[in-house]
Amino acid sequence: MPVPGPSISLRELSRDYGTVRAVDSVSLEIPAGALVALVGLSGSGKSTLLKMINRLVEPTSGTIRIGDEAVDSIDAHVLRRRIGYVFQNIGLFPHMTIARNIAIGLELAGEMTGRDERIAQLLDLVELPQEMASRMPDQLSGGQQQRIGVARALATRPGLMLMDEPFGALDPVTRDNLTEQYKALHQKLGLTTIIVTHDMAEALYLADRILVMEGGQIKADATPAQLLSGNVGEEAEALVAIPRAQAAHLIALGKQA
Ligand code: ADP
Ligand code: MG
Repeated sequence: MPVPGPSISLRELSRDYGTVRAVDSVSLEIPAGALVALVGLSGSGKSTLLKMINRLVEPTSGTIRIGDEAVDSIDAHVLRRRIGYVFQNIGLFPHMTIARNIAIGLELAGEMTGRDERIAQLLDLVELPQEMASRMPDQLSGGQQQRIGVARALATRPGLMLMDEPFGALDPVTRDNLTEQYKALHQKLGLTTIIVTHDMAEALYLADRILVMEGGQIKADATPAQLLSGNVGEEAEALVAIPRAQAAHLIALGKQA
């Protein structure tokens, strides 16, 4: 088994933008190797929470520890090499080959030895053919580009992956495939992953723990089974009601046929 990714600990973490409190005193313990989904409506503070972990946003107050290190004691460049970050419309560099796009983090870190082998390995990991290495980004589909985004994020062998609606812009079939394959990758590499999604159905399928965020606070923290069985608060229930109603609707339609 691979070495598990790090644990993460947030203590009374807050972030204000002017008078808006985007994240409001969040305390959380995420164990090493967990796959956690962060779910909530637009504007609930999910992206801000994630970006404080890799220091793209500085907290107004509170602390973040990765393993036993406070993130503000780690050089930001070093920190970001240890944390993979994937977001919607990942934005590959259009004038660079796929190979260079994947290896950009290694280049920046001056890790050029074994670069080509690493690129080949990463293409395998994200289940893309080797011939993609020499292509340009605009020759890839949206789903393939997001796979390259995942490969790029994994290039420096981070233990922690932060994913912000990584497959949100893709068609549902591609998205389901990528979600499923990411889950396998998370397990295979022993990563710790926090994945933001506004889709409760995806979270229920993917994660071993779901955090429901509203107004900058964590309103529910439960396993998928606990969320489905109810009694975890109205915010969570409102989000679970959507896939539940869709499933009921499909079953009813099936009976009419
Ligand atoms: P989510 O990812 O759940 O949609 P965000 O973390 O992006 O939520 O935003 C949370 C709140 O903080 C929202 O009210 C948003 O408008 C505000 N916000 C986010 N980023 C900024 C920013 N850079 N400047 C000002 N307000 C921001
Ligand atoms: Mg967001």
